[in-house]
Amino acid sequence: MEFYISWSHSDAKYCDYYKECPMLISVIPDNKRPLRKLNTLPNKLIIDSGGIFYRNQNKKTTVEQIFNLQVDALQDANNSIETIKLVQLDIPMLDKRSLSDKYQTMEKNLYFAWEYMNLFTKSRLPSNIQPMAVIQGFDGPSVQHSVLELKKMGYKYFGIGSLLSKNSNEQLSTIQTVVRLVEAQYLHIFGVTGINQIYEMSSMNISSFDSTRPTKAAAYYSVFYSNPFRTYILGTSRIAKSGPRLFEPLPCSCPVCSINPYDIFIPSPRHYMKLRSIHNYYHLRNTIQNIISQTERTNDHVVPNVLRP
Ligand SMILES: [Zn+2]
Repeated sequence: MEFYISWSHSDAKYCDYYKECPMLISVIPDNKRPLRKLNTLPNKLIIDSGGIFYRNQNKKTTVEQIFNLQVDALQDANNSIETIKLVQLDIPMLDKRSLSDKYQTMEKNLYFAWEYMNLFTKSRLPSNIQPMAVIQGFDGPSVQHSVLELKKMGYKYFGIGSLLSKNSNEQLSTIQTVVRLVEAQYLHIFGVTGINQIYEMSSMNISSFDSTRPTKAAAYYSVFYSNPFRTYILGTSRIAKSGPRLFEPLPCSCPVCSINPYDIFIPSPRHYMKLRSIHNYYHLRNTIQNIISQTERTNDHVVPNVLRP
């Protein structure tokens, strides 16, 4: 299972510190030609449509505009990126209340996916670049309908979004519904934060997920440590947040602490927040690696996908 760090232009340059560093970037207006802003390119890349951003800003955008922005971003890519997935523009279903609104959104999403696939096919991109469909639905049958239609259009890679507002049990049950329809090895989960969720996804053999958690935690003056996974609030920060506080660095061999472990304890300016996110990334990644080797061990003697009926 691959962990993609969800990245925007003002975040730390993770790939400068870690050799293998899958990254998810959205083509939002501030992020034009995002790869130009990096010194080191990620080894794997997902270019998202920024659908949630455009919806939050109430900005109308077309499938073609988004596709063109994604292709623009590819100008700065090179062979060091092994795989690239371009995510179709979708309309998040989060604020749709009535059944007919939900149904209409689902149908519109399918139309967008069809339009997107046509543009993608016409552009004849190299074979390491593949389109990714976003599965939308509001219950079992609608999710199933979406997946079948998307497969008919020729999609092989799928992502599940719109999970952010659901609680973790609902999120997991949606993922379980989808892995009955799509092989887990072709499935990406957008916007993951919880360690439990990562554990469950790993035991389902999900291909990948993305998270902004190392960056967000650093901005809120939190530091991670692994073995076991823990988070602490900087003792020196004035943030009114409950939870254990830490005043002195713990032993850590991340690229930042190897030079000066006290740097991550300086609340601001932004330079130190970025160093803190590099440190946090190291521990979240360690934790994910541990989870993967644990779940691989448990899966060794059973059916690979334990949740398959
Ligand atoms: Zn560190």
